[in-house]
Amino acid sequence: MTCLIGKNALVTGGARGIGAAIVRRLAAEGAQVAFSYRGNTQAAEALVAEIGAAGGQAFAVQADVGDRAEVARMFASCDAQFGPAANLDILVNNAGIGSNGADASLKSGSEDLFDEMMRVNAKGPFLVTQQALPRLRDNGRIVNIGSISGKVAQSFAAGYGMTKRALQSLTFSTAVSVAKRGITCNLIAPGAVATDFIAVLRSKPGFDEGTAKVTPMGRIGRPDDIAGAVMMLCRDEAGWVTGNVIEAAGGIAL
Ligand code: NDP
Repeated sequence: MTCLIGKNALVTGGARGIGAAIVRRLAAEGAQVAFSYRGNTQAAEALVAEIGAAGGQAFAVQADVGDRAEVARMFASCDAQFGPAANLDILVNNAGIGSNGADASLKSGSEDLFDEMMRVNAKGPFLVTQQALPRLRDNGRIVNIGSISGKVAQSFAAGYGMTKRALQSLTFSTAVSVAKRGITCNLIAPGAVATDFIAVLRSKPGFDEGTAKVTPMGRIGRPDDIAGAVMMLCRDEAGWVTGNVIEAAGGIAL
C-alpha cells in the first residue's frame, strides 16, 4: 500500500466525513497530504495527529474555498511545505455544503442558501483548480467530488443539484485544459453517505432503511466507499481515464 510515495496531495474539506476518509487513504498509500477545512480546528488537528501516529504525513490549513484570497493563502501554506515550483500531484476538490434539512426546494428554497451553495460548491472548486494548475506536475490527478444530485431530478434539492451539475461542467473543461500534460480530471458522484452532511436527514426515522431499500447494493454509503473510488483514479493505471462522471453510489442512479 505504497503506490503514492513521493507524491503530494491536497484535499479540500478534509477534516471530516468523506474528505477525512480520502486524506487517510492517500496518506496510507504514502502521499504527503495537505487538507483544508473551514472552521473545525479540533477535527483537523485530531486527523493530523492520527495520521502522524500511523506513520503518515499530513498537515491542515484553515481556508474558505469560496474566497480567492483564502485559497491563495492555502496554496502559500502548501508551497511552504511541499517546496517551490510545481509541487502537487493530486488535487481533490471535496469541500462542499448542502442544505442538511433546510428548505432548498425549487418551490420555496431561500436565495441566501442557494448563493452560499453556489459559492462553496461551484465557485470554490473553480478558484482552487485555477490556482492549482500551475502547481500540478505532469501526469497528475484532479478528482472532483460531485453528487448523484447533479444527475437525477430532485425538486427538494434543486439548488444543490445545480451546484453539482456545474462541477461536472468544470470537470469536463478542466480535463481538456490539462490533457496534453497527462493530467486527468474526473468527478466521483456519491449517493447518500453517512456523514454529518446529512445528519438532520438521517435523524428522521427510517431514512437509512429507506436509502438501503432503493440502493441496489442494499445499504447507505460509507466515507471509505468514496475514498476507494478516489484512490482508484489516483493510481498510475488510471492515466487514460479522464473527463468522466463516475457514480459511487451502490447502483442507486441506475
Ligand atoms: P461534511 O459536512 O461531513 O464535511 C465537509 C467538509 O468540508 C468539512 O471538513 C468542512 O470543514 C469542509 N468545508 C465546508 N465548507 C467549506 C468551505 N467553504 N471551505 C473549506 N472547507 C469547507 O460533508 P461530506 O464529507 O459528507 O461531504 C463531502 C463532499 O461530498 C461534499 O462536496 C458533498 O457535497 C459531497 N457529497 C456528500 C454526500 C453525503 O451524503 N454525505 C452525498 C453526495 C455528495 P469544517 O470541518 O471546518 O466544517
